[in-house]
Amino acid sequence: MLGLIFKTSCILCTSQDAGAHALCQPCLDELPWHDAPQCPQCGTASNGLTCGNCLHNQPDFDATHALFSYDYPLDRLLQHYKYRESLHLADAFAQLWFDKKTLDYAYIDLIIPMPMHSIRLKQRGFNQALEIAKIISKNANIKLDYTACQRIKFTPPQATLPHKERIKNMRGVFECTKNLSGLNIAVIDDVMTTGTSLNELAKTLKQAGAAHVECWVIARTLAKPYSY
Ligand SMILES: [Zn+2]
Ligand SMILES: [Zn+2]
Repeated sequence: MLGLIFKTSCILCTSQDAGAHALCQPCLDELPWHDAPQCPQCGTASNGLTCGNCLHNQPDFDATHALFSYDYPLDRLLQHYKYRESLHLADAFAQLWFDKKTLDYAYIDLIIPMPMHSIRLKQRGFNQALEIAKIISKNANIKLDYTACQRIKFTPPQATLPHKERIKNMRGVFECTKNLSGLNIAVIDDVMTTGTSLNELAKTLKQAGAAHVECWVIARTLAKPYSY
C-alpha cells in the first residue's frame, strides 16, 4: 500500500510537504499574492476604485485578475517556466488559482490564451499562456479556443521598446477569424506589464463581437507608467 502514497517536493524549498500545486505551506504564505487594493479594470494599485489612468484612457479590456504581483520569487519562477520549459509549473499556477476562488468561472463563456507568433513558437517550443489556459479550462470547465485569434505580425519583444513604440509595435498584431458575438471572454497570459499586448488583443476580440473581455494573468507588475 505504501507504494500508492505519493509525496511531492516543494518547487521552491524542496521540502517534502507540498500539495497538489507543488508548493509547501510556508512557501505559499511567502509568495507575493496580488491582494492589495487595486483598480478592478487594470489591476494596478489603487484605493480599490477605477484608477485615473483607466478613467482617462479607457482600456479595451473590462477587468484584470492577477494571481501574484511580479516580485521575488515569482519573477524567478516565471522566468524558469518561460525559458526552461518547466511545464509542471503551469499545473501549479492553475491549481493555485482554482484554490483561491477569485475568478468568476460561471460568467466566462470562452478562454483565449495570448497568441504566440509561429516563429516564436518554433524558437521556444511551447506557448506558456496556452499551457496554463489548457489547465484552467479543464479545471473550470470553460471552453478553450486557441485558433480563433492569431498573432499575424512578428514583433520585437515589448520589453526592449520604449512606451510609445510599444503601442505602435502592437498595432494590427492580432487577427480574429471567428465571430465572437456576445461572448464573455477571459484572456490568459503569464505576465502583464504595461498591458499593451493584452489591450490590443482585447480590442481585436471586441471587434469580433466579444461583449466582455477580462485579463487573467499569473503576475502583474506594479510599475508605472503603463499604456494602452
Ligand atoms: Zn517550500
Ligand atoms: Zn486602472
